[in-house]
Amino acid sequence: MNRIRRGKEVRREKDSDLFKTVDSTFDTSTSLALLYVMRKLGIEVIMGAIASGKEAKVYPAKTREENYLALKVYYTSTASHKKALSRYIAMDSRHKIKATSTKDLIYGWARKEFGNLKRLYEAGVSVPKPYLVHKNLLVMEFLGHDGVRAPLLFEYEDITQELYEKVLEQITLMIGKAKMVHSDLSEYNIMVFDSSPVIIDVGQSIQLSDDPNLEFLNKDLKNINRFFSSRGINVRPVEEILNSVLST
Ligand code: ADP
Ligand code: MN
Repeated sequence: MNRIRRGKEVRREKDSDLFKTVDSTFDTSTSLALLYVMRKLGIEVIMGAIASGKEAKVYPAKTREENYLALKVYYTSTASHKKALSRYIAMDSRHKIKATSTKDLIYGWARKEFGNLKRLYEAGVSVPKPYLVHKNLLVMEFLGHDGVRAPLLFEYEDITQELYEKVLEQITLMIGKAKMVHSDLSEYNIMVFDSSPVIIDVGQSIQLSDDPNLEFLNKDLKNINRFFSSRGINVRPVEEILNSVLST
């Protein structure tokens, strides 16, 4: 009896330590969600945030077996991007989310990114393997080695014609197999892991059928061409790429 109780107390003490060390800015519901995810996946350590964007922070998380996972935590408290989120979600015919509160909207957003990742992963697109979504937390494969993330395309030194072709291959798979448009594709949302491009940040990705005028696909292709041509690569005309990706 006594032993059990002491055990529980020890565990509880550890849990509260965890809240303090992981991120003092997490609210109670995020801390509880995190605890659930950590237990579920056997995560023991969460390291300092890799990056914090407008909507989320990403952390390397180490499991009992010393594997690294990437934990994306969507902010639940920023009312400012509520408008942008609801616009995207409304545009997407697959995700009819009743936005009763900002929290619901954010949970919906996390599920949307997870669903998009899954669809892309299953279509054979090079994206981080999705593991789990719970409330405002998403866990996926960690791109990097020993907790050190891989470089983003804009940070990568060795920009070659071959790398450009590999990026176009991934776009072709996204369009041809997954029937999806990234819609925020740039050198900031592609990582280079073991010399190959991996597409990330697919929360705002949409179905190809939701981009009837190819406005988003055009923008993605222009962005990619702009980046590679700024690094001295001979890029193919957007029209030509469009024709070839749409015919797959
Ligand atoms: P944001 O909406 O903040 O741009 P991202 O999904 O682009 O969110 O992630 C932010 C940053 O976290 C990325 O620029 C990258 O440095 C890092 N990151 C994202 N996903 C992973 C991953 N699976 N493995 C390692 N690092 C990642
Ligand atoms: Mn991003």
